[in-house]
Amino acid sequence: MAEHDSGDDLLEKITNLAKRRGFFFPSAEIYGGFRSAYDYGPLGVNMLRNVKNAWWRSMVQLRDDIVGIDAAILGPPAIWAASGHLETFTDPLVDCKKCKERWREDKIDGVCPNCGSTEFTEARAFNLMFKTQAGPVEGEGATAYLRPETAQGMFTNFANVLATTRRKPPFGIAQIGKSFRNEITPQNSIFRTREFEQMEMEFFVPPAEADTWYRYWIETRHRWYLELGIAPEKLRLHEHAAADLSHYSRGTTDIEFDFPWGFDELEGIANRGDYDLTQHANASGVRLEYFDQANNERYVPYVIEPAAGATRAMMAFLLAAYEEDVVEGETRSVLRLHPRLAPYQVAVLPLSKKPDLEGLSREVLGLLQPHVMCDFDLTQSIGRRYRRQDEIGTPLCVTIDFDSLEDRAVTVRDRDTTTQTRVAIDDLVATVLTRLV
Ligand code: ATP
Repeated sequence: MAEHDSGDDLLEKITNLAKRRGFFFPSAEIYGGFRSAYDYGPLGVNMLRNVKNAWWRSMVQLRDDIVGIDAAILGPPAIWAASGHLETFTDPLVDCKKCKERWREDKIDGVCPNCGSTEFTEARAFNLMFKTQAGPVEGEGATAYLRPETAQGMFTNFANVLATTRRKPPFGIAQIGKSFRNEITPQNSIFRTREFEQMEMEFFVPPAEADTWYRYWIETRHRWYLELGIAPEKLRLHEHAAADLSHYSRGTTDIEFDFPWGFDELEGIANRGDYDLTQHANASGVRLEYFDQANNERYVPYVIEPAAGATRAMMAFLLAAYEEDVVEGETRSVLRLHPRLAPYQVAVLPLSKKPDLEGLSREVLGLLQPHVMCDFDLTQSIGRRYRRQDEIGTPLCVTIDFDSLEDRAVTVRDRDTTTQTRVAIDDLVATVLTRLV
């Protein structure tokens, strides 16, 4: 029977699996580590790319009302003054009076997680942006910031996109990329890091349609996680109370996932009103409006923003997919990842290292590689190799045996059911592709 873990146990299993099999490693480990960052290994880089591709596919490729951009990470202070980040992008920082550890006040419930003390200094506003110098001269003119979110790139390019694509509201601009926040307490593996990746989309709409689109995007983004295999009971929507809204927001709903430490944010969907375009227009002196010729009317669109974390989503997909079950009397761990997210879609496994089998196996590998990401594994017993592929979530294994040399057919073994079917090499690509949707 399948078993699901909960609590710290699961977090530890996933973190160990990630390190042991090459999903992600603590960064700079040979120098003792760097708590705020992770490096993605050979499996992780595939999976993270798959998460981003799945988002891009649903947000850009399958739609005719959203286009993409890729804006710079470094930006001048003017952007962050206008967006409100210089002023308000802060977390409340407190020092424990006993052990001197620093914490984010709103995350610790009044008790020091390190020593248990309840005595803290007064909270100070700590700005989360990384500040740096651009160019060889120091001083105010050279100050630059690493973006703490990708969203501002969409607002500062609003007029460029409008002019080059001839879009009209409702339309969206999407971006995937790195963001940086000097988090006071990075924690829970890749859930909260100082360097991370976001997937954000700004949807510009006529103001009267804002609420309808806000609801539409909550629903659409929720469905995305469900379609990629997260069980409904592992997700919930949390609508923020008016008093808790950020300075720019007229309504925010978080999609939360049931992480081992409880439900926590995966993505936020906000109705940002005309805040951002108005702020940037006022600060830059450039008009950021839409002229509706049909009604002879000029207006500042409202913005609905679904803002997700790519690295955080990857963590949720890994946690949601992990299962242990018993196959042929042996416990196995299996990642039931959606085929679109798995690091490899197919593993090609010659039954033995005999040269003629390896030759045919490489031919099969060559047929599959243009279509799907493949692993090729020659080592250990076939049973061991199946387990190793189950553990990293590979949906299909293709085994080439001695009969294959005679009948030009191979065995396709399914990760979830462990059933095996014989398929002619000539039909393999078509069979694999239909099984992976
Ligand atoms: P939190 O309250 O957890 O600090 P936030 O509400 O400030 O997050 P947003 O500004 O709404 O987060 O960012 C959008 C998304 O970006 C989040 O839902 C999350 O998935 C991701 N994200 C934000 N900060 C981090 C981080 N430090 N590490 C990884 N992902 C992050």
